Amino acid sequence: MTGPAPVSAAERFWSHVVQGPASSDCWIWTGAVGDDGYGRFWVPQPDGGQRAMRPQRWLYEHLTGAVLPPSRLLLHACDVPLCVHVDVEPQRSHLAPGTHRGNMLERTQRGRHSNGATALRTISFPRSERVRLSRELREAFREHGWDADAVRTCRTGIAANTPTLW
Ligand SMILES: [Zn+2]
Repeated sequence: MTGPAPVSAAERFWSHVVQGPASSDCWIWTGAVGDDGYGRFWVPQPDGGQRAMRPQRWLYEHLTGAVLPPSRLLLHACDVPLCVHVDVEPQRSHLAPGTHRGNMLERTQRGRHSNGATALRTISFPRSERVRLSRELREAFREHGWDADAVRTCRTGIAANTPTLW
């Protein structure tokens, strides 16, 4: 346990997030994006330094109070790498903790997410393409806020470039 995050971290976090209008929509990170196509959120540490975290991971720990060990991944069920839509209710959350393999197997057995996506896609997607799609998505959101078409384009780009499980 690291204890609750400082309020200022939460305020900074939400200033970088655009939430879709529907409760099932993605919440898109518009802050820094790393060269892996995932977001980066700088969090002050007790020793006075800062640490870059994936923002979805920060929110998960912030909401649940749990600290995820490094081996425990958070996987996107929605195929959108910049999505940070974490919910304590697993049915509503776009991110599920798991290992690469364990989570894929679980999702394969359980069937697809409601949007037809599988966690496998985001993981197996070529890194350079993921970076490109994430940056395009972020730019669209920075320019005009919530953009359902941009989310769809990102998701379609990932789905079109990766094998399906079926
Ligand atoms: Zn999402």
